Amino acid sequence: MNLNIYFDNNATTKCDEEVLNTMLPYFNNQYGNPSSIYSFGKDIKNEITKARKKVAELINADESEIIFTSCASESNVTAIMSAIRNNPTKKHIITTSVEHASILETMNYLKSIGYKITYLSVDEQGKIDLQELEDSIDEATCLITVMMANNEIGNIYPIKEIGKIAKKHNILFHCDSVQAVGKIKIDVRDLNIDTLSLSGHKINAPKGIGVLYVKNQIPFTPLVFGHQEKNRRGGTENAAYIIGLGKAIDLILKDNYQLNNYLKDLRDYLEDQIRKNIDDIIIYGDLNNRLPNTSSIAFKGVKAEELMLILESFNIYVSTGSACNSETKEPSHVLKACNVDLNNYSPIRVSLGKYNTKEEVDIFVKKLISIVNMFRKRG
Ligand code: PLP
Repeated sequence: MNLNIYFDNNATTKCDEEVLNTMLPYFNNQYGNPSSIYSFGKDIKNEITKARKKVAELINADESEIIFTSCASESNVTAIMSAIRNNPTKKHIITTSVEHASILETMNYLKSIGYKITYLSVDEQGKIDLQELEDSIDEATCLITVMMANNEIGNIYPIKEIGKIAKKHNILFHCDSVQAVGKIKIDVRDLNIDTLSLSGHKINAPKGIGVLYVKNQIPFTPLVFGHQEKNRRGGTENAAYIIGLGKAIDLILKDNYQLNNYLKDLRDYLEDQIRKNIDDIIIYGDLNNRLPNTSSIAFKGVKAEELMLILESFNIYVSTGSACNSETKEPSHVLKACNVDLNNYSPIRVSLGKYNTKEEVDIFVKKLISIVNMFRKRG
């Protein structure tokens, strides 16, 4: 029996056994360099090509548009830096206040060298206003970058509408799709996305592998120069991880997104049980349009940080914000942007994955009831 209850799948996921087994031969037996022209390397290149085709199929791209990177953070930074380098006279970027740190920190840097950054505001539910987006566009706008789904509250953003606006104004559109992949069917053509990022470790592949999709027609400048990936990303290919990512995507495609139904039922069951047994709670985000696995829940008067630590003592793992923020002890920038009452209602994030079960949810809710009661009695 697995004694850990891991409810932090938006931070990272367990590597699937099938994925791991697909990868293993590439560490010791088939360790050749994919760029070598003899078969010991070329065979590996063929497997990389198969993985590339899988990624392309997942997002309806052409395989020539897929670049493997070390992580989605690298993909995000590469996409943004390429966009600005290819539009040197335009110095305005539009993004949102709820993006991942890899986007927001890049914006901070660009601001420091003279770029104007517009951060679209969000309402209490974390929703953006498309009119505000359209009104923010000016002659100098070279890029719009908006995430497909939020890692903390799970909101799904109106990417198709944003793609249309970007196209109408002839502005590049980058979409961080890390949390959406595997949960939302993505068609980059239909959505008018120019560049897109995704990450292996959110979809049961290992940490340390990412993808950058770059539409064929747009100009591109690498961040890491070198010959690999058709001169678009240097560095000897991380063959095992790329092939593992291909396998993880193959599993998603074969499952045809059925896992979503399981995750949504489990999440809804979890929230129902909490609502039935604990009063004075708030569930943050756009409850009508969010990822099926994510729940950001606050219990009046209970500090999320303390709650998380007590749950940890029972080997139950949730988070209090994005994994990347948890070291700073700063309140989540996403919830701050939503302008909600974090003093009284600070949330834990529960993010479910394919290995979670109803039994785990029952254990979790039972513990939660007693911990929240204890907090409230203590006052
Ligand atoms: N974008 C979002 C929305 C994320 O949630 C994350 C990871 O937490 C990333 C980007 C970064 O992914 P990676 O860890 O592959 O750099």
